[in-house]
Amino acid sequence: MTPRELIAFVGARLQFAGTRKERSSAIGTREDIMLDKARDGKMSNLLNALDKALSAGEVERAVELFQTDCYWRDLVTFTWNIKTMEGREQVRDMLRARLADTKPSNWKIADGEEASETDGIIESWIQFETEVARGFGHVRLKDGRIWTLLTTMSELKGHEEAMGSDRPMGVKHGADRNRKTWKEGREAEAAELGYSRQPYCVIVGGGQGGIALGARLRQLNVPTIIIEKNERPGDSWRKRYKSLCLHDPVWYDHLPYLPFPRNWPVFSPKDKIGDWLEMYTKVMELNYWGSTECKKASYDEKSREWTVIVQRDGKEIVLKPKQLVLATGMSAKANIPNFEGMDIFKGDQHHSSQHPGPDQYKNKKAVVIGSNNSAHDICAALWEAGADVTMVQRSTTHVVKSDSLMELGLASLYSEQAVQSGMTTAKADLIFASLPYKILHEFQIPVYNAIRERDADYYKRLEKAGFLLDYGDDDSGLFMKYLRRGSGYYIDVGASELVANGSIRLKSGVDVKKLTEHSVVLTDGTALPADLVVYATGYGSMNGFAADLISREVADKVGKVWGLGSNTTKDPGPWEGEQRNMWKPTQQEGLWFHGGNLHQSRHYSQFLSLQLKARMEGIPTPVYGLQKVHHLN
Ligand SMILES: Cc1cc2nc3c(=O)[nH]c(=O)nc-3n(C[C@H](O)[C@H](O)[C@H](O)COP(=O)(O)OP(=O)(O)OC[C@H]3O[C@@H](n4cnc5c(N)ncnc54)[C@H](O)[C@@H]3O)c2cc1C
Repeated sequence: MTPRELIAFVGARLQFAGTRKERSSAIGTREDIMLDKARDGKMSNLLNALDKALSAGEVERAVELFQTDCYWRDLVTFTWNIKTMEGREQVRDMLRARLADTKPSNWKIADGEEASETDGIIESWIQFETEVARGFGHVRLKDGRIWTLLTTMSELKGHEEAMGSDRPMGVKHGADRNRKTWKEGREAEAAELGYSRQPYCVIVGGGQGGIALGARLRQLNVPTIIIEKNERPGDSWRKRYKSLCLHDPVWYDHLPYLPFPRNWPVFSPKDKIGDWLEMYTKVMELNYWGSTECKKASYDEKSREWTVIVQRDGKEIVLKPKQLVLATGMSAKANIPNFEGMDIFKGDQHHSSQHPGPDQYKNKKAVVIGSNNSAHDICAALWEAGADVTMVQRSTTHVVKSDSLMELGLASLYSEQAVQSGMTTAKADLIFASLPYKILHEFQIPVYNAIRERDADYYKRLEKAGFLLDYGDDDSGLFMKYLRRGSGYYIDVGASELVANGSIRLKSGVDVKKLTEHSVVLTDGTALPADLVVYATGYGSMNGFAADLISREVADKVGKVWGLGSNTTKDPGPWEGEQRNMWKPTQQEGLWFHGGNLHQSRHYSQFLSLQLKARMEGIPTPVYGLQKVHHLN
């Protein structure tokens, strides 16, 4: 199947994504019903065969059911890891190591679903069980064998979340002289957790990542404290530059359990998302310690316990959790350059993360170093405020118009149109998760080729203005850049027009040589007069937080955080096939990394919370394929 066929296939599949019941009432002809049955039959036969082979412990018979070019992505059910097995050999190895313990059973088409077929590929939502968990997944059959298989853990048996008909009563009817109100219960918990009772888990970082994970752990009854140095939940967004609105649309951004209401704007302004996070933290009853900084953490291998030193309200408190999650943000550790002359520069200078906004820079000369998202947003806001702005672009940047990205890149899964056709956020996340990273770029290249064609004039005008463009090392565009390196792009919400028409001046293909008292001198000899210099120079790996808070030794032991190992710019090989160190066990027992964009935080917090819950309950969690360390940061 060519990439273009794959895209068409995925797109067609998404045209109607409702449940079996919705679809049969929409389709309903006798012929269709017969076809449905035939597809269901093929899928069920395959799942029965898989069920039998796995139940009998017959690895070879199970492997025979896979294509030679197969992909099995497992989110925690078999591997207690986030891992993609590529090809039969890897499937065989994993099953040999994990089948006996996992004891999978009851593989079938998921309740209320049916198989569908596009271009010869039959696919279906599936459900299954392991000895300790219930799983949900997705399978695609090619020529009657498994081409892609996604297995994800939905819940641990005996530790299901209390929701729906199992939701808490909230009140105990009857008479009770010792009755405690909900408020009293919450206050008692706040008074004791971290003081007379230790949390099982401490999350350092209370941005949207820490909050989403905290909400999942709360539902799973894992005593958790979120440590945040800012005063209020949402402050990490509030403190960013004034003009910032989310670059991703609302359909992509929901938090777990509590989706945005239907009148929520497509692109959330930063202060509005800050308020939502604050409200969410409250209603999800999270133990959130604001104005609290984590100063140090160390792990005792004998007691298998962390000592976490935090500063709260001016007092030092020592916490002793079993699990420590760093949710300190992958766009949080500022990369601040060290140019000659920065110490003598007389104007204002700061990293983009510290930029206060444009108000005080009317009629001032501003130089913004960098050409990715923050640089563009800040340049545009400065221009709107009447500053004279120059952007300094050292190397190429991938730029894509927000409209094009939404229509061609995201619409089939995350859009109003997708919602109208029955797509849910959970299913969109799982479909996305079912596309193996190894071939994801092949799905993406045609999308960006189409965008290049559609916006050809726009790209020509940018190049004419001197802007250096790229589309990713292999032309696979924005999303692959994000997964591989987390940087190198701008989602254009208006600034590119200002670059193209010269309103924002551009110096490209040059670097900064030095600063003088009143100017920025570039490597081509140009001196740009400056009252303000903004370093929009990006962020460092979360590994740096491990070094700061724990030790260099532990940071080196776990290695680079983020990247797939694609051997493209800033994502060195070897191929890892999953995000390095994110949401899964690391080489340091009890240490985890969580974060990413809102979609990733929502989706992967499910699997990280289940890994933590299983450990708390003493359920054996033998990790298959623990990643090796190849790079330090
Ligand atoms: C300009 C910009 C635009 C972005 N746009 C989008 C977008 O449109 N959509 C999207 O999904 N993502 C976007 N991102 C990425 C964005 O960073 C994240 O989605 C989001 O902020 C990540 O949440 P997080 O919780 O992982 O990290 P953060 O929000 O960075 O939160 C980390 C928290 O850790 C705290 N912390 C760090 N160290 C300590 C310590 N020692 N003690 C206590 N607390 C500590 C920090 O104070 C911070 O609040 C954008 C990022 C930037 C910079």
